[in-house]
Amino acid sequence: MNILILGSGGREHALAWKMAASPLSEKLYCAPGNAGIAREAECVALDLADHKAVIAFCQAKKIDLVVVGPEVPLCAGIVDDLEAAGIKAFGPSKWAARLEGSKGFTKDLCKANKIPTAAYERFKAAAAAKDYVRKKGAPIVVKADGLAAGKGVVVAETVAEAEAAIDMMFSGGLGQPAWEIVIEECLVGEEASFFALCDGETAVQLASAQDHKRVGDGDNGPNTGGMGAYSPAPIMTPEMNQRVMDEIIQPTVRAMQAMGAPYKGVLFAGLMITKSGPQLIEYNVRFGDPECQVLMLRLMSDLVPALLAARDGQLKNFDLRWYPDAALTVVMAAKGYPGNYAKGSLIEGLDAAADGQLKNFDLRWYPDAALTVVMAAKGYPGNYAKGSLIEGLDAAAQVEGVEIFHAGTKADSGRILANGGRVLNVSARGKTVREAQQRAYAAVDRIKWPDGFCRRDIGWQAVKRET
Ligand code: AMP
Repeated sequence: MNILILGSGGREHALAWKMAASPLSEKLYCAPGNAGIAREAECVALDLADHKAVIAFCQAKKIDLVVVGPEVPLCAGIVDDLEAAGIKAFGPSKWAARLEGSKGFTKDLCKANKIPTAAYERFKAAAAAKDYVRKKGAPIVVKADGLAAGKGVVVAETVAEAEAAIDMMFSGGLGQPAWEIVIEECLVGEEASFFALCDGETAVQLASAQDHKRVGDGDNGPNTGGMGAYSPAPIMTPEMNQRVMDEIIQPTVRAMQAMGAPYKGVLFAGLMITKSGPQLIEYNVRFGDPECQVLMLRLMSDLVPALLAARDGQLKNFDLRWYPDAALTVVMAAKGYPGNYAKGSLIEGLDAAADGQLKNFDLRWYPDAALTVVMAAKGYPGNYAKGSLIEGLDAAAQVEGVEIFHAGTKADSGRILANGGRVLNVSARGKTVREAQQRAYAAVDRIKWPDGFCRRDIGWQAVKRET
């Protein structure tokens, strides 16, 4: 197959790394890609906002499958446009991507389907929103509707802070004035990321992960796109995973199907595990970044057939896991075999005999933990410079169990230069989170990049639990 990945971050590098290993992938492209992705795929300079250009490229290169990494093109309807042009694309339609694109849509869907989530109200004007905040008291959470690259949420500790957030969002503090905000109850518990693969009808659990959003050690400082992650999330026991599937994911997939917007793609649930059970904080309509990096390290099965089955609506007929049951096969041979036999006799009744469907699709995973450390340019998430030199990557990649995904790099006559805020995802697998953590930091210490930094405590909660 000829496969095109859309995106340019560490998530897309991890997807490219995994898909390049598939016997099904003949030729892999990534648009626009980065210097690390260029080792796995041919990078092409396409503007993802220009759907016509993407379609023309797919037609010229006979692309069999497009895998969309980030949310912006999904919410802009790139899957609808590709499919309308006869090109298979993995990811939700524009209509289904509202699960990430509109917080109000998702909250109403939860309410209508009794999916556990924080109590909330939607507001189109500041005065009513402030009245509500004063009535409810703090802490309280203020969210702008629409995509805001992770900046549209304020967890306010005081009523004054919440009122300031309301004014900021309605007056254009996030770039443009919010047309609507959601105000919700502040949930207390431990956060976890949960991923499921959906084909419109069937949802299959992938793996869980936890990420570190704050820039500084000890989970301090401003929020970022994510400074590191590990998988599995120790809080996600088999019972908790089942509750999330039963109480959150399955009802969502059923509701989307019922409203004529079947959800296909990866459904990423941001959860708060509270005393009373899992609550949905938010949905994302794609793999997380950096969670995808640890998921791909742990996935043993081939990813390509799974993405295809999701796109084709065939997840329920698909299985990569092994049943514990015994199996037996009986060979039916032509009369005369192993001596002389005739060919061409008619066989009937096969359809009636083969009535079983493989209902439980599942992917196989390494039992190992995986962890990723984000290396960012000094100054991130504030102002930072691009173009600084990174050395020592090959030596770092030699540490056992280590894989380095590029999130924002550029190649310049054989040298690797920083080209973004989050620049590298130094990732490792290990028997335990602690071992994965030790390996990842051993690799970090081999990287010579004076203009970069990382947190030194990624995975601390999980390591504490293990010891
Ligand atoms: P989001 O951008 O929606 O992922 O939200 C960013 C972060 O805000 C989440 O990861 C949570 O830490 C926090 N958050 C969002 N909603 C709530 C809530 N209802 N209660 C507590 N924390 C929340």
